[in-house]
Formats: sequence, C-alpha cells, structure tokens
Amino acid sequence: MSFSNLGLSDKVLAAVAATGYTTPTPIQEQAIPHVLARRDVLGIAQTGTGKTAAFVLPMLTLLEKGRARARMPRTLILEPTRELAAQVKEQFDKYGAGQKLNVALLIGGVSFGDQDSKLMRGVDVLIATPGRLLDHTERGGLLLTGVELLVIDEADRMLDMGFIPDIERICKLVPFTRQTLFFTATMPPEISRITEAFLHNPARIEVSKPATTAVTVTQLQVPAGREAHDKREILRRLLRDAKDLNNAIIFCNRKREVAVLHKSLQKHGFSVGALHGDMDQSARTAALDQFRKGEIPLLVASDVAARGLDIPAVSHVFNFDVPHHPDDYVHRIGRTGRAGRTGTAISIVTSLDSKSMTAIEKLIGQPIPRAEGDFTVHNEASDEDAAPRRSRSREGSRDGARGGRKPRREREARHGEREPRHDQEPRQERAAKPEREPRHGRGSSPQAAPSHVPSIGRAEPRRPQREVDHEPADHSHLPAFLLRPVRARA
Ligand code: AMP
Repeated sequence: MSFSNLGLSDKVLAAVAATGYTTPTPIQEQAIPHVLARRDVLGIAQTGTGKTAAFVLPMLTLLEKGRARARMPRTLILEPTRELAAQVKEQFDKYGAGQKLNVALLIGGVSFGDQDSKLMRGVDVLIATPGRLLDHTERGGLLLTGVELLVIDEADRMLDMGFIPDIERICKLVPFTRQTLFFTATMPPEISRITEAFLHNPARIEVSKPATTAVTVTQLQVPAGREAHDKREILRRLLRDAKDLNNAIIFCNRKREVAVLHKSLQKHGFSVGALHGDMDQSARTAALDQFRKGEIPLLVASDVAARGLDIPAVSHVFNFDVPHHPDDYVHRIGRTGRAGRTGTAISIVTSLDSKSMTAIEKLIGQPIPRAEGDFTVHNEASDEDAAPRRSRSREGSRDGARGGRKPRREREARHGEREPRHDQEPRQERAAKPEREPRHGRGSSPQAAPSHVPSIGRAEPRRPQREVDHEPADHSHLPAFLLRPVRARA
C-alpha cells in the first residue's frame, strides 16, 4: 500500500513524499479513506502509531476547498495538553507548507489578545485545549457554528484529566452535522458513552491492542522504602550505574514531586530538566526542546506533561512513583522501546504500591521481575535536596497576593490544562530526612543482597514464545549492577 492509493490530494502527496515517508501506517491506511469520504471515525490507537497524520493529511486535502470566515473556524482539534496541541500544529506546518492555511493554537499561557487577532483573521484549523477554547467562546470571541470537522484526540486522557464535561459542552456548540474524528488509546465505559452520544455511525479502527507493552522493553521493579529520600537515593544509583543510558524520562505522580526531584537531581550534579503542568509555557517548551536535542539527557515529568509526546529514542524510563492508574504505566513505558528499539523501564516500588503493581501486571498480562541487587539505603543524610517547604508555600501565596484563588477556568487557562486528579491530591509527605551518598561507593554495598531478590536470569520478562525461541537474551542495555550475581544471606 502506498499513500497515493488513499485519495489524498497531489499537494498533500508531495508534502508526504518530501518527509520521506513511503508507506502509510495501519491507522493511516484505514482511517484516511473514511475521513475523505466524510465519515465519522473512531480510532483506537496509541501515540506512536502515526495517528496524527491519519487526521492531518486528509484534513489538509479537504481544506483545499473553501475559505475561513472571521471568528468561525472551519475545523477544530481538541488536545488534552499544550504540548500535544503544539505537536499537532507542527504537523500542519510540515505537511501544509504548500497551502495557504491559517492554523491557530488556542492554549493556556499565551495572551488572549494575540489569539483573538488570529481568530479575527479567519482560521482554517483551530487546535485547542478545552479550557482555553471555552474561555474564548464565553468571551464571545469565537463561534463554533462553522466547524465542519471536529477531532477529539487522546480522549481517554481527557477523561483522566476531568475534561469530559468540557468536551460535552464543546460538542453541543459545534453543528450537529459536523464530521467527528475521535481518537483514544483505551476504551473505558465513560469513553464508550461519549462515542455513542457524539459519533454518528463511525468507522471503528483499532490498530493495536490497547494496553500492550512492547516486547523490546525490559521491565524491572526495584524495591524501596516508603520515604521519598530513600527513593531518590535509589534513583541516583540506578542512573549512575545504568549501562547504555542515553537519555531517560523519570516519571512522578505529582507535580510537586517533579519539582522536588528535579531540584534534588540538579544538586547531585545530574543534567536534568523538568516538565509539569504548573510550569509556564516557555519553560515547558525549553525543557522539551533541550531534551529532544540531547542537551539534557534526563527529564523529570508528570504524566500529563509527557503524555503522547513524540520523543524519539528514549533509552530508559524510570517510574520514580508507580502510577495509580495501570494505563499510565503503559503510556509511560511506551516512551522507550519505540520503533523496534530496545529500552529499559525500571519502577521504584514501595510497600504502598502493591495494589497498583498487581493492577499493572494484570493489565499488561505479565509479571514485572524484580531487579537483582542490594537496594538498602543508608540514612545518614542531609536535608539538602528536598525543596524547602516554606519557599513553596510562599510561591503559593504570591498567587494569592495577586487576587486570591482564581476561578477554575482561569487557573486552567493559566496552566493550559488540568493535571489528572491523582496529580492534584495533597500529599502526606513527611519532612525529608537528611540524605547523603551511599558510603560504599556507587550502588555497591558490603551487605548481602536480600535473599528474596531473584537473579536477573530467572527474572527475564516473559516474552511471546516465538521471540524467546529465536532471540538470545540481550542484557547489554541493563545497568551493570543489575547483572551481578545474587549473594544469598548466610
Ligand atoms: P504519532 O502517533 O502521530 O505521534 O506519530 C508517531 C511518529 O511516527 C511521528 O514521529 C511521525 O512523524 C511518524 N510517522 C507518521 N506517519 C509515518 C509513516 N507513514 N511512516 C513513518 N513514520 C511515520
């Protein structure tokens, strides 16, 4: 199958050829003809499948006819985060370079005035996060009655972030007769309900089983104490001892933990950036750019900020916190092992995480083996790397000084999107204890490894039989200490 068989216009085909892509991905092959035939599409596909081009390319073809009117966009794309919205715009810029289309982004963190003047000029493609979009409609600066095509992307993520009521409101503001393209990685009941309410006889396209993890990713778990500083020490050992670590994303469950860990790693000499929903847009963009270019090899991130980002060739993913939702685990570790490359995903697991780990293992259909080694933490540390509580609360009160707690919509507009509920929960964290580097050198300890830690040989992740038969185990990408033999307790 080639792109030329899908019904795309010559201009779009030329733009695709210029990127060097010769074969459509399965979601592109199946979705594009339906989009061009003006049919609703329900695409069950994760990021990394080429799903963005599956709607961008036919939209560009359809938009060649017709003109935009002031304040009345012709098409609307809803994205859960600013970064995803910006990524979709990049694809319009790339494939639509030969067309004179007005593509506008409506995301938080950017002035209303600039966005208003863009809307006035007439917009062919409006890419928006739900909160900022509704802000504009409420101010009367935007009419959705001219929308011919609506894309709802990453719908399950929108659900996690509490955006579904906003999506329902937006769906009622666009004409009933519009075409709707709906993409989700998973199909929880709430998402099924939405698709039944807002899609009309959609072509259902499912390109990969939801919630599967790539066989090229080696998954491991490392036991840790409950204290955040224990986990930080273990993470540092993992980072220092990791073999073939080119770059890594380190996930935390909460925005505040991202900030604390980021600061801690910097203090310990790591070159690291941070990405979470409370950072201002320029800081988020800068961190992501530096990470993409390889200028900083480590990125501490929350789920919301990192979901769906196209960052090629990440060698390692660390779960500093085990995610509460098993779907998030799949998305996180999907950042590595892309396009057939090998990757390593290591989760730091405390006794509080056992329920979450059981749910994750059930979802992915395989146990996550324990890494070999001694992870005993020696607690004689200094408090140097915990973010001082007082300064954080002062940051909070600065906001207050500017006029008290703002209405939800405004807060959201400021941050671009809401973090998922679990990211917002207040955290019962004890004051961080002092911490220091392990006395016995990097990752080593004079103590014997706990006898319950299985050896890496026994712990090799279960793979489909076919692959085990033909592939010798390759541990070259694992941290060296994970490969050391186990010493049983005397
Ligand atoms: P997405 O799932 O939209 O995030 O796309 C994932 C990656 O696949 C992006 O880097 C795209 O540029 C790339 N991509 C999209 N379509 C193709 C294609 N037909 N062939 C190869 N790569 C593609």
